[in-house]
Amino acid sequence: MHLLVIEDEVKLGDYLRKGLVESGFNVDLSRDGSEGLGMALTGNYDAIVLDVMLPGIDGFKILEAIRKSSSIPVLMLTARDDVVDRVKGLESGADDYLAKPFAFSELQARIRALLRRGTLQETTRYALADLQLDLTTRKATRGSKRLELTAKEFALLSLLLRRQGQILPRAILADQVWGMNFDSETNVVEVAVRRLRMKIDDPFDVKLLHTVRGMGYVLELRDADSA
Ligand code: CA
Repeated sequence: MHLLVIEDEVKLGDYLRKGLVESGFNVDLSRDGSEGLGMALTGNYDAIVLDVMLPGIDGFKILEAIRKSSSIPVLMLTARDDVVDRVKGLESGADDYLAKPFAFSELQARIRALLRRGTLQETTRYALADLQLDLTTRKATRGSKRLELTAKEFALLSLLLRRQGQILPRAILADQVWGMNFDSETNVVEVAVRRLRMKIDDPFDVKLLHTVRGMGYVLELRDADSA
């Protein structure tokens, strides 16, 4: 199970990550609202632990943005006894909330409860031609071959698959997959695309990931003669 924790308090964030990893979860931690939102929208998490007060974008705005496209379970961390925050959180689509300070065992129990609910909904498979991605099992395959992808490659591929047929500029990929402002000096996107292509396209006759010169990348099935 893959969790995203968005919490700017350094000590608390580290403590949560450590505890949740020890409880058997995969955990990504973001200490910033904008970065956290980018990760939430592209990272294929099973649940999100979301602090309300954050630099960048606050927890309510993040939740609002997430709810436009996803029903992923969200547990909000609110200030102690702040009834207004709790009500606001639940109204904006939080599945549960926990007031600070809280016992770690309580957090863990709430997360497990949310995950049990969460598994009943959401179809989480994408496909193009013989390329398939399953967000629940985090398995990517092409034909009968299992593709071994890193977390970023998985996120990149799921974004390309979700928006297949659309040209995605590098800036969009940088923002959504890496949560960073696109800087033309870095080639992190190109490098990742090249690595992904080596895995999903190079061993196969039919190529799916195409570069659109000066514009970006598109994942689509093209006619053999126009490829
Ligand atoms: Ca905070």
